Amino acid sequence: MSKRRLSDALSTDAIWPAFQPLVDLQSGAIIGFEVLARWTDSEAGAIAPSDFIPFAETSNLIGALTQKIVQDACRKAASWRGDFVLAINLSPTQFQDPDLFHFLASIISETGFPMNRIHIEMTESALLDDDTVVRENIASLKSAGMGISLDDFGTGFASLTRLHAFPFDKLKIDTSFVRSMQHDSGSRKIVASVIGLGQSLGMTVVAEGVETEEQAEMLKRLGCDVGQGWLFGRPVDGDATERLLAVSKQK
Ligand code: C2E
Ligand code: CA
Ligand code: CA
Ligand code: CA
Repeated sequence: MSKRRLSDALSTDAIWPAFQPLVDLQSGAIIGFEVLARWTDSEAGAIAPSDFIPFAETSNLIGALTQKIVQDACRKAASWRGDFVLAINLSPTQFQDPDLFHFLASIISETGFPMNRIHIEMTESALLDDDTVVRENIASLKSAGMGISLDDFGTGFASLTRLHAFPFDKLKIDTSFVRSMQHDSGSRKIVASVIGLGQSLGMTVVAEGVETEEQAEMLKRLGCDVGQGWLFGRPVDGDATERLLAVSKQK
C-alpha cells in the first residue's frame, strides 16, 4: 500500500460507504445503519478495512477518508425514506483534533442529512488521553444533536469509571463476547452485566456480530436493545440499502 494509491482511490468511487442495519431486538424494526468504509480496487479487488484504515491513520489520510465516506453516505441517505440513524466511525486520533466538530458539521450540513440522526462511534482507546480537546469535541458533537456510541466495549483498557465520565448514548458490546456467549456461561454473564450496566447509566445497548437466531434470542431475553450482524444483514451499498428500507419494517 502506498499513500499515492490511497489518495488516488479517495478521489474516485473505489472507496465507498457500505451500510449495515441496526435492528431493534424486541420489534425487529430497522432503527439505523452503521456506515463501513469499503475499498474496491480495479486490480486487487476488495481491500480490507483492517488494512487500509490503519494505513490511512498513519499516513495522514484519515481526514480525507472520513470526508469521502461521510459525504457519500449522508448524500445518499438524505433521500431515503424513514427516520433511521447513521452511525459513523472515527479513528481515535481524530478526537484530538480541535477542528473535528467544524470539519464534520460542515460536511454533514452540506448534504442535508439531519445532524440529530448521526451517531458517532468511538473506541475506548480514544479515551486513554483524557485531554480537554476530546471532551470538548464530544460536547460540541452532542450539542449539535449527534449521539455518541462507545464501540467495541470490553476489548480495550478503559476503566469502568470512564463509562459515566463521558456522556455516551450507546454502548456497543464487542463481537467476541457475542460469539462466545452461547457456549461459555462466563461470557454470557459478562454480556448480561454489561447490558444491565449500560442501561442503568441510561445508555442504549447494542450487540455486534449477531450471526444466529440463538444469539438474537439470548440477547433479547437478556434485554439487549439493539442487534447488528449478518443475521440481520451484511454491509451493502447504498442502492441495496435503499431497496431494503423500502420493504422493511421501521420504528
Ligand atoms: P467496527 O467499527 O467494530 O465495525 C464492525 C465490524 O464487524 C465490521 O467490519 C463489520 O463488517 C463486521 N461485522 C458486522 N456484522 C458481523 C457479523 O455478524 N459477523 C462478523 N464476523 N463480522 C461482522 P469491517 O467492515 O471489516 O470494519 C472493520 C473495522 O474498520 C471497523 O470495526 C472499524 O473499526 C474500521 N472502520 C470501518 N469503516 C471505517 C471508517 O469509515 N472510518 C474509520 N475510522 N474506521 C472504519
Ligand atoms: Ca463501529
Ligand atoms: Ca465494533
Ligand atoms: Ca472493531
